[in-house]
Amino acid sequence: MPDIFNPIPDIFNKVTDIADRLNNRLIWQFAKTRRPIATKRPIVSFTFDDVPDTAWTNGAAILEKYRARGTFYIAGGLEGRIEADRRLISAEGCRDLFTRGHEIGCHTFSHRKVSSLSSRTFAGDLRRNETFLADAGISRRPTNFAFPYNAASPRLRPVLKKRYATCRAAGEAINRGTVDPFMLKAVEIRQPEDHALGLTRWIDDVAADPGWLIFFTHDITASPTPYGCRPETLERLVSHALERQCDILPVCDALDRFGWKEARP
Ligand SMILES: [Zn+2]
Repeated sequence: MPDIFNPIPDIFNKVTDIADRLNNRLIWQFAKTRRPIATKRPIVSFTFDDVPDTAWTNGAAILEKYRARGTFYIAGGLEGRIEADRRLISAEGCRDLFTRGHEIGCHTFSHRKVSSLSSRTFAGDLRRNETFLADAGISRRPTNFAFPYNAASPRLRPVLKKRYATCRAAGEAINRGTVDPFMLKAVEIRQPEDHALGLTRWIDDVAADPGWLIFFTHDITASPTPYGCRPETLERLVSHALERQCDILPVCDALDRFGWKEARP
C-alpha cells in the first residue's frame, strides 16, 4: 500500500522496492536461526494487517462462525484513520477483538518501512505501539510481529529478536521443515476475487503435506481494496480449510502446537 506518512517519488519507491526484496531474500537465504515446524496436522492461520475496520466487523465474525480465531497485526498510528477506500480500526475495536479471543500482534506504530529507521527509532516505535495497545485495554503484550509492506531489514533483526517470538513477511509459500521464526512466509489474500477464491489450492497443498500456511489480508468487504477480499471469499477459504481437516489457529497458538513456547520473549 502507498506510504501514507511519507509520500516519496515513484523512482525512489522503485529503488527501495528492489532493496526491500533483496533484504528479504538475504534473510531467507542466510539467517541462522531455525526452528522446526513439527506437526502431523496441517495448520492454517488467518492474519490481518493494519487493520481496516471491516476485518474486525466482517473478518472476525466469519472466523468465529467456524469457532476459529485470527491474528490482527495492529499499527496504532493508523487508529481511526479515514482513507479514500477504507477506515482503520479504533482502539475500542482492538479491545473488542482481544476480548473475543483473537490475537493482537504488532505492526509497528508508525507503519513506516522498518529499513528506513535506525535501531533506536525502531525500538522506540515498537514501545509506542505497546503503550497504545496497553492503553486500549489489551492486557497481553504482543509477542508476534508483521513487517509493514512485508519489507524486513537484516540490520534490525536483533531489535525484533529481543521483543517477539515471530515476525511475518510475505513470500508466497508454506512454512515447512525448519524455518526462520523471524521471517515467516505468508500467502496474500488479495484481488482479483477469482485469484482469492483460487487460494484454496494452497489449503489443498498444506493438507496433502502438513506444514503451516499463513494467510494475510486487509479489508473484508463487498467492495474490497486491491489488498482485501469479499466476506464470502474469506468464508470459502475458512470452510475449505476445515473441510480439508486443517486446524485454524492464531499465530500464538500455532507456536504452542510446535512447542515453540520457550521462544516467547
Ligand atoms: Zn501494513
